[in-house]
Amino acid sequence: MKKVRLATVWLDGCSGCHMSLLDMDETILAIAKRVDVVYGPLVDAQEFPKLVDVTIIEGAVSSQDDLEKVRTIRQRSKLVVALGDCAVTANVPGMRNQIPPRKLLERIYVEGADQCRGVPAEGVPALLRQAVPVQEVVKVDLHVPGCPPPAQAIAYVLTELVEGRIPDLKSKVKFG
Ligand code: SF4
Repeated sequence: MKKVRLATVWLDGCSGCHMSLLDMDETILAIAKRVDVVYGPLVDAQEFPKLVDVTIIEGAVSSQDDLEKVRTIRQRSKLVVALGDCAVTANVPGMRNQIPPRKLLERIYVEGADQCRGVPAEGVPALLRQAVPVQEVVKVDLHVPGCPPPAQAIAYVLTELVEGRIPDLKSKVKFG
């Protein structure tokens, strides 16, 4: 049986959703037999590959890099899943949205620094004016809320997706 090409992506999130994904106990073994993980924090691929069947995105879209990445992901993925409240609503990353990015960066790198004060000009992705949910940038096929979503819900989602079904998440997940 052909394996499902699965990617997982970590944008502006705390990694808690990926931790929950890894917390599926023995279900992860059954799923691992059905998928090829072609991209994500757990594999070494540097560039997002083509012809991905399912991409799971954790985190909000917060920087210019996130924006470009998520557009590439959409072009190269059959199915895009927003995993967790940050991807679904912007959640915690969205808490900065009332503060202009320049002011925020100066608060952290100038006012809040004991040494080497100064907003870095290189090597740091430019922040977008606001952190936004994935669906504000590209079409999302499935939203899985939760902070993080419970491991059992993620296991159910993946089990259904590898069987070629769209999971019915009613009563299985909630925000927060
Ligand atoms: S939804 Fe919660 S657990 Fe997931 S990345 Fe955001 S803050 Fe972390």
